[in-house]
Amino acid sequence: MYASRDDRLTERFSENFSGYTGGGNFLVKDRGEWVKITRQDFSQVTGRIRIEMLDLSLQEISDEVVVATAFFHIHLPIHEEILSRETARLVLIFRLEREDWKIVHSGISIPYYLVRDGEVYPIRGLHERNQELQVLVDERTKALEEANDKLEVLSNTDGLTGIANRRYFDIMLNQEWNRAHRAGTPLSLVILDVDLFKNFNDRYGHIAGDNCLKSLAGALTKAARRAGDLVARYGGEEFVVLLPESSEQDALETARLIQQETWSLKLPHAEMPAGIVTVSLGVACLVPSSQHSPEILLQRADSALYRAKQLGRNRMQSATSNQAWM
Ligand code: GH3
Ligand code: MG
Ligand code: MG
Repeated sequence: MYASRDDRLTERFSENFSGYTGGGNFLVKDRGEWVKITRQDFSQVTGRIRIEMLDLSLQEISDEVVVATAFFHIHLPIHEEILSRETARLVLIFRLEREDWKIVHSGISIPYYLVRDGEVYPIRGLHERNQELQVLVDERTKALEEANDKLEVLSNTDGLTGIANRRYFDIMLNQEWNRAHRAGTPLSLVILDVDLFKNFNDRYGHIAGDNCLKSLAGALTKAARRAGDLVARYGGEEFVVLLPESSEQDALETARLIQQETWSLKLPHAEMPAGIVTVSLGVACLVPSSQHSPEILLQRADSALYRAKQLGRNRMQSATSNQAWM
């Protein structure tokens, strides 16, 4: 009976589980060891254990981390009065792992062996133990926060080029759109696509293609120089540069710099008239209004890019003008 109940509990433990034992009064840092100890503890009690909850509090550290603290009485089925009711404090740190809440830290304070001379109840011992636990809880929480920060950076980064990915761009586009809407300032976008990149891959191979995309990401980062500019890989061989508080002239200037940086890479591409890798660019600029959503900026820049391709590639086009810039 206890074994199966225990299994249900220990299944919740994460692989990197650690916990403070009650009776043994020491820190267990290994999941397997903890499972063994809890099993042994339960197997010593043959009768029914009754738990009387005194207080329970939940603290949400982040979307993925919750600390649960409980005070309760444990009623053991034994006759010695002094052992038949113990007061305990249990701290559990739960972390969301995939879709499951797992226990990644557990601390239990049960006052066995803690009564000191002159004490009726082991207040001092419990207090010290709680402080130790607090330090551990703080350490674990900090480590989890750091891990979450790292994960967040990873989830916003493109694996191949190391610049921002589409997910992050979408978030920032919305954010900058709202900011520009409130402030009444222009927001610009440059979208660019590598010319005849399929042919490049066919001729030079996919690895050379990957290296080309990495070099282009570097060129773009060099060209988008202001602190608020965001360079991202939009997908495949398409990149975007989001330019807050930029006029159309500023955006065209950035597009020109991108073009120049790309040319100066001098990556051979025998099937382009220039003999090197080139890009086509579309530029859009507008002051956000409530009639439109951020997608309008993408649509406009994309149609300008389409025109640049139609007109022969290796050029830039603005959404508001039919003029072509070579
Ligand atoms: P256009 O000038 O009209 O843009 O011609 P294109 O050949 O560049 O256009 P298309 O969309 O036909 O081809 C895009 C190519 O980009 C096809 C795909 O193999 C390649 N590509 C997309 N992502 C990657 C990548 O991560 N690495 C490599 N090496 N190639 C990629
Ligand atoms: Mg493309
Ligand atoms: Mg292309």
